[in-house]
Amino acid sequence: MDGGKRIRVLVIDPQGEAGSEIATLIAPFGYEAIVCDAPEDARAAIARAQPAHVLLRLRADSDDREVVRRTATATAAAVAEAEPRPSLVFIADDSSVPARIAAVRAGADAYLTPPLNGLSLVDRLDGLRGALEAEPYRIMIVDDDALMARYHAELLQSAGMTVEVVEDPYTVMRHLADFRPELILMDHYMPDIQGSELAAVIRQEAAFDSIPIVFLSAEDDAETQDRMMATGGDDFLTKSIKPQHLVSAIANRTRRFRALRATMLRDSLTGLLNHTATKEQLDADIARMKRAEQPLTLCMLDLDHFKQVNDAHGHPAGDRVLRALAHLLKQRLRASDVVGRFGGEEFAIAMPNTTPRQAARVVDEIRESFSALRQTGETGAFSVTFSAGLASYPKAEDAAALTEAADRALYRAKAAGRNRIVIAEAEDYPASAGAPAAVAV
Ligand code: GH3
Ligand code: MG
Ligand code: MG
Repeated sequence: MDGGKRIRVLVIDPQGEAGSEIATLIAPFGYEAIVCDAPEDARAAIARAQPAHVLLRLRADSDDREVVRRTATATAAAVAEAEPRPSLVFIADDSSVPARIAAVRAGADAYLTPPLNGLSLVDRLDGLRGALEAEPYRIMIVDDDALMARYHAELLQSAGMTVEVVEDPYTVMRHLADFRPELILMDHYMPDIQGSELAAVIRQEAAFDSIPIVFLSAEDDAETQDRMMATGGDDFLTKSIKPQHLVSAIANRTRRFRALRATMLRDSLTGLLNHTATKEQLDADIARMKRAEQPLTLCMLDLDHFKQVNDAHGHPAGDRVLRALAHLLKQRLRASDVVGRFGGEEFAIAMPNTTPRQAARVVDEIRESFSALRQTGETGAFSVTFSAGLASYPKAEDAAALTEAADRALYRAKAAGRNRIVIAEAEDYPASAGAPAAVAV
């Protein structure tokens, strides 16, 4: 297990020490910083390091403004040539508007002025990367006609989307759970089921009742189209549609769905999944692991003495601690791990294909980094720790039993002195309820 990819940053700073300061600030958030103290070597350093970001430190005390300008221009040129192009961030003492305009003209994506804070710097870098590398849209095509399906799949793939084709409509529910599409493009006429009927079946499942379903059919009579959509279709495209219109119709709908979903599923303070979304995703992942006969580990994580943190340093400082932890979790865990804010200062992490021992190693590394973070409050710097409990499927068979076992392990971590991780033991798992008794109605 790689424990998530580290994001590489090249810090260009003629006076190396600020570069290593920045490296220290961002390292806990899963960023790896490489320092280059010779701006004239920027091109070679970028080629070697292949960074996601280039941070150029420009100093006001540099006696020659012309040197500053030339350094900025040369670095921007080196960045522009690199493939893939990293984002370019200037860190400069001069906060004047003319200096900022000059930076924009040179090609900077962001302009920051010291003092730098690790969390806000990382927020900024994450934002830049989010804009550069948004995840491809996931589109499911349901069409019994393999040739037609492949044609549409290739169209959408060439526009950068990820496509899964389902030729047998009866397997659609399983594919939905595994692939989690953001839009379904569905042929309307299939041999023994109509698209509108299949849409109604999909809509019966609460988890899928808002996925956009777009029918594709030779039908061009508006009334028939309306009837087809009454059971849960969102849009109707005729098979004669021009390729570029098909692509943009799908992309527009998916973009809106993604934006809407983000506000429904995400916690606004941390950007992590909210309680409901975390539980839904956990259910889906357990079902998936059951089919794959693979383990899954759930980690329940709770900040230690957080009430005291708020009391001593203020609620806004407490909020920053929550965001710093959310950042760490997002950076250090794999994309396939589910990370949610389960309650006020409680987080849940579901790690598919992972045993408790593997999970404990990863979470323990995060625990160490987190406890080493310097948090900032009105009254100075402080640090915070967390405790975590781990439990696993198949020892617990469903989300409720898994959560209960992980909670009990967490409770034991707290009782044993906090700032530690405990793996659930046999007695932490609730006794299996067995088959429910038949109920006479
Ligand atoms: P323990 O180590 O036993 O977990 O102690 P604790 O103080 O962390 O636990 P307790 O449940 O007593 O207190 C949780 C605190 O978390 C109380 C609440 O003010 C704080 N909290 C919950 N949500 C938020 C939030 O969104 N922002 C801030 N700043 N604090 C929060
Ligand atoms: Mg707590
Ligand atoms: Mg708590």
